[in-house]
Amino acid sequence: MSDKITRTIRTQINRTPEMEHAAPMFLTSSFCFEDAESMRAAFADETDDNIYSRFSNPNVQEFTDRICVLEGAEAGYATASGMSAVFGSFMALLKQGDHLLSCNSIFGSTHTVISKYLPKYGIDYTYVPATATAAEWEAAIRPNTKMIYLETPTNPGLDIIDLEMIGRLAKNKGIILNVDNCFATPLNQRPIEYGADLVVHSATKWLDGQGRVLGGVVVGKKELIKDIYLFCRSTGPALSPFNAWVLSKSLETLDVRMERHASNALHIASALEGHEAISWLKYPYLKSHPQYSIAEKQMQNGGGIVCFELKGGLDAGRKFLDKLKMLSLTANLGDTRSIASHPASTTHAKLTETERQAVNITPGLIRISVGLEHRDDILADILQALL
Ligand SMILES: *Cc1c(COP(=O)(O)O)cnc(C)c1O
Repeated sequence: MSDKITRTIRTQINRTPEMEHAAPMFLTSSFCFEDAESMRAAFADETDDNIYSRFSNPNVQEFTDRICVLEGAEAGYATASGMSAVFGSFMALLKQGDHLLSCNSIFGSTHTVISKYLPKYGIDYTYVPATATAAEWEAAIRPNTKMIYLETPTNPGLDIIDLEMIGRLAKNKGIILNVDNCFATPLNQRPIEYGADLVVHSATKWLDGQGRVLGGVVVGKKELIKDIYLFCRSTGPALSPFNAWVLSKSLETLDVRMERHASNALHIASALEGHEAISWLKYPYLKSHPQYSIAEKQMQNGGGIVCFELKGGLDAGRKFLDKLKMLSLTANLGDTRSIASHPASTTHAKLTETERQAVNITPGLIRISVGLEHRDDILADILQALL
């Protein structure tokens, strides 16, 4: 089983004596021991026996093992949401006096954690633009920079950051590189191959792919994951075994789903490019994308997100949403059903115009999460809403 997709599908927790084919759900808070000695050994970390589901659980382990296969990672820990994976990776590895380097287009809640909560613990940060050059990234590094954290493609602007360039920089400076790989998924892009030490995911998005459960996971170097595990096992952001069961099963179809999401998205992006109601459109696998050559180097396809700017700004954005007949108006992305969102009037509405500009949220920005419906139907709905 050399292929990673085969290995992912075939990675499964041990069968019970019932000889079930699909993995059963281990909805249990704790696990039993035969005697005092085996219980002592488990608590002393001399065995891998499950103790309590805040520490480990077979369904959670299966999901984590599958992500490790996909990302080419040594170890991992799964969490209740993407944000708890992000937060756990910060809190376990950063301490007072450390500096975190990131970029200005990151997921909204991650921005809140970095700019509002980390400073409360004496952890400083700097943002560089997502399109910064190697020299600009390097110039932002300080003697106390402990971690570089980034997303590529960025949400929702779809900027592409060169993982090879950042990986080299982080390695040269001995800085932990932590990459949110949510938008690309491990089938499309594997940051560890470019030197990332950690990869975090919101499993809520493409990994589930059906908009059902929240989940998160962080995978990477064994010694770093050990610290994250110890932090999480004490602080409690454990993934529910039910959610882990759902997510693990989802990974068996990730490859076929992502292929269709990406081919639908490429079709829609190509068809919309140059439309008179749009001032610009971005999709990583269109030649017009400013970082097309980087996307082609590090991504297997362009992914499932398309974004564009409506000529009429804020007002046009709201009208566009109102005119849609099929696409869902919802805060999620990475679902079988196509979703449209308008960040300036929703997720980023509380920011001032200047603050929005600083994080690249333009007034007429529309983000489409392209689903698995027939591409003609998705395109037709968008086109009629653009009229
Ligand atoms: C949604 C998302 C997160 C947060 O994940 P949750 O599962 O919602 O906590 C983090 N990063 C990116 C890029 C996301 O899209």
